[in-house]
Amino acid sequence: MRRFAAELREAGFKVDYRFAESMREGVQLHRDEFSPSQIIVTEPNSFAARELVSALSLQSVKSNQFLCHHDEYASFCATRKTVKMEDFYRWQRKRLDVMMDGDDPFGGRWNFDEENRQGPPKTDQDRWPKPKPVALDALDAEVVADVSSNSWGQPPTGQWATSRTEALVRMKYFMKNNLPMFGEHEDAMLKSNWHLAHSLLSPYLNLGLLLPGEVIAAVVKEFEAGKVPINCAEGFIRQVIGWREYMWNCYWQWMPKYKSMNALDARRDLPKLFTKPDATSMSCMKSALDGVYQRSYAHHIERLMVLGNFALIAGVNPQQITDWMWNSFVDAAEWVMVPNVVGMSQYADGGMLATKPYASGGAYIDRMSDHCKGCRYDRKQRVGPDACPFTVLYWDFFLRHEKLFAKNPRVARQVRAAQQLSDSAKVRETAVSILARLDKGEL
Ligand code: SF4
Repeated sequence: MRRFAAELREAGFKVDYRFAESMREGVQLHRDEFSPSQIIVTEPNSFAARELVSALSLQSVKSNQFLCHHDEYASFCATRKTVKMEDFYRWQRKRLDVMMDGDDPFGGRWNFDEENRQGPPKTDQDRWPKPKPVALDALDAEVVADVSSNSWGQPPTGQWATSRTEALVRMKYFMKNNLPMFGEHEDAMLKSNWHLAHSLLSPYLNLGLLLPGEVIAAVVKEFEAGKVPINCAEGFIRQVIGWREYMWNCYWQWMPKYKSMNALDARRDLPKLFTKPDATSMSCMKSALDGVYQRSYAHHIERLMVLGNFALIAGVNPQQITDWMWNSFVDAAEWVMVPNVVGMSQYADGGMLATKPYASGGAYIDRMSDHCKGCRYDRKQRVGPDACPFTVLYWDFFLRHEKLFAKNPRVARQVRAAQQLSDSAKVRETAVSILARLDKGEL
């Protein structure tokens, strides 16, 4: 905000940049001093801020931070009985004319998930070009000094850009260096490499330093120039015009009640290890949490299948894990965290957003990462002192919620498998002991 104010001044605008106890008070102070006939704002990105805009009688205009406005989304939903992300994504591709060949997707396929779900490569694990941090400047340092910190995590180091100019540099770097290898291992996790080929552009998109339209145009340009394989271009475009915009619209469709849903009645307080990565012996959790501690970042699979998955199967309160993610990630905002965490990751909406709970055991993490080798726990064990907490709590989760999920076609098989475990009583006993250790901070 301070940098934007300075840039506007430099461009010749008169800027009234204020410090106030609240947005309401800031607007009042501005009105008292300037008596403007009207105040026009861009539609804010949170439900509470839009209520404030309305309460203060501010005039608003549509935001360019998203390509699908709620009005357009409403017209999309009106023509369908059920709304699925995949249908929305295809609709977006067609109406925005992104990688289309007439009415068909370029290359004949909408989806390259099959190619894009490979585990970590066996060799050359450091093949991905490193992100290039820049030194903090005086303005960054001033803001860091002013922001009183009662949160956890390391101070900023220049990993994340704070200007549009630098955000554009990062975008170009990604297009040239990482996008051509984005696809295959986008779901993989490695101890030794936190970024792989991820774009690291989400903070800039969510802050408005980059616009989705320009990012997509840059991807299409690289693809059309033959520099990027189709699975890499499609996989990335899906994240931006599919998932990102779908989450945005789910937020507006279901707020404000959605935020406080807790369909699985999950009541555990946020475990201490979420702010103390060193306090856990689980290699996968330690690695993902350390990334958040160091850089306020973990990639999408670390968020969904490690951190979120653990909270889900351990029965952590969905509002507490949502708040933790919102407070901890550099790209966080209410609109993105509420549907992604309450709905997608914690199934706290009872299936409004996702058709199944994203619960998995150690086998998935072992397949998609190199964390299990050398971990203090054994991902194959489900009873005893060395049992992997993910494996144990995964089975316990489906036993605990067997009635709810027995008829869900996407996970009914897992429920049946849990019911047929020969040692299910012992698994449940082990889960009780694991959760007790978790609560004591000894896991
Ligand atoms: Fe995580 Fe279990 Fe693998 Fe350890 S063994 S890294 S706790 S999944």
